[in-house]
Amino acid sequence: MLTVEEARERVLAGFTPLEAEEAPLTEALGRVLAEDALAQESSPPFANSAMDGYALRSADTQGASAQAPVRLRLVGEVPAGSVYAGVAQPGEAIRILTGAPLPDGADAALQQELTEVADGWVTIRQPVAAGTNIRHVGEDVRPGMLLARAGAELGPAEIALLASLGVSPVHVRRRPRVAILATGDELAPLGQPLRPGQIYNSNTPYLIAAVTRAGAEPVALGIAPDRAEELRAMLTQAQGYDLILTSGGVSVGDYDLVKQILSEQGAVEFWRVRMRPGKPLAFGFLGQTPLLGLPGNPVSAAVTFELFGRPAIRRMLGAAQVERPVVTVTLEGAEQRRTDRRQFVRVRLASRAGQLVARTTGAQDSHLISSLQGATALLIVPEGEGVIRSGETAQALLLNDALPWADEW
Ligand code: AMP
Ligand code: MG
Repeated sequence: MLTVEEARERVLAGFTPLEAEEAPLTEALGRVLAEDALAQESSPPFANSAMDGYALRSADTQGASAQAPVRLRLVGEVPAGSVYAGVAQPGEAIRILTGAPLPDGADAALQQELTEVADGWVTIRQPVAAGTNIRHVGEDVRPGMLLARAGAELGPAEIALLASLGVSPVHVRRRPRVAILATGDELAPLGQPLRPGQIYNSNTPYLIAAVTRAGAEPVALGIAPDRAEELRAMLTQAQGYDLILTSGGVSVGDYDLVKQILSEQGAVEFWRVRMRPGKPLAFGFLGQTPLLGLPGNPVSAAVTFELFGRPAIRRMLGAAQVERPVVTVTLEGAEQRRTDRRQFVRVRLASRAGQLVARTTGAQDSHLISSLQGATALLIVPEGEGVIRSGETAQALLLNDALPWADEW
C-alpha cells in the first residue's frame, strides 16, 4: 500500500503546466497568470488632488493665521478629467476637484472646508505644507513593480490592480478540460425517476462543481454501465482531454471493470492508498491522456478528488499554490482513534478565542454525503496508535482557501 504522499507524488509527476493563452482582464477571475505581470507605467500617472478644494503654491501661505489670513486670487477651475491650461502664479488659487491633475506651479491643495471664498478671493487662515492632499505620481505603483507573480490566481483585487495600469488582455494558463465519467448499473441521471435498485449519480454533479472550483472546465460524459464493451467505448471517446476522472469500478467487486479495461488499454497503476476514506485509486495514462480512477462511494470520491485530482488540475494551471492550506486546529468533541491508515475526517472549523476549533460533521461512513455538507476542512488523523482527544491539537486540510494564507511575507 502506498502512503498518501507517495501516491500524490506519483500523480503530480504526470502533469505539467498547460500552454498560456490571452484572456480579457474582465473575464480572468480565477485564472492563473502564466508570467509575472510587471508594471510598465506609474499609478497614479499624474499628481492629483485627494480633496475638493483649492490648488495653491504652499510658499504663498507661509505665516497665514486667523489674525493674519492670506488671500489668494481665484483664477480658474480644474475638474477631474481635465487639465488646467495655465501655470499657477504667486498669489493665485485654482478650484480643484478630487482626482483632477495638480496645475503646474501649484504644490498643494487645501480642502474647501478650511477656506472661505468670496468675490473671487480665497481666504486661508493657516500655512499649508507642500504636498498637502496631493496623490503623487507612482505612489501606488512604479514602473517595473511586480503586480502579480506567475502562478498567482487572479482575484478581484489583482484584477483591479492590473486594470489601474490598463493591463488587458492577460497571459493565463489554458483551463484544463476534464472529462468526468461515472460507472455503475445502479446509477440514474438527474431528471429521471429511480427504478427499484437505482440511486442517483451524485458523483458527476459533485465533480462538475469541484472541477470548476479548481479552475478547470468539466465535461460530463455520462454514466457507463458495468459492461466492458460500453465502458471501453466511452473511455476511448474520452481520450484527448487533459484529464479523465472516473468514479466507481476500481475496487475488487465483480463489476469493477475500470481496472480491467485500463490495464488492457494503457499504462495504468492500481493502488491501494493507506488512507480512509478512499483506499482504492487508479492512476495512469489511456494513450496520452491521464486518468484518475476515483472510488465510487461519494465521500471517497470527494476526498480523493481533493487530495489527488485538485492538485493535478492546479499543477496543469501552473498555480503557485497546488495544495490547500493545512492549519493547526484543536479538536472538540468525540476523540479520534488512529489506525494503520491515515484518516481524513470531515470537520467544521470555528474560531474561538484566537484558536481554530474543529468538530466533526457527524458519522463518517463513506456513503454519507451529509458528512461532506458543511465540512470546511478535513481533519488529518495520522497513521499510528492511540487517540486524539478533545482539546488536543491536530492538522487539518482546508477545503477552501478562505483563511489568510501566504507562502511568504
Ligand atoms: P463501486 O466503487 O463502483 O463499487 O461503488 C461503491 C459505492 O459507491 C456503491 O454503493 C455505489 O452504488 C456507489 N456509487 C458509485 N458511483 C456512484 C455515483 N456516481 N454516484 C453515487 N454513488 C455512487
Ligand atoms: Mg460500481
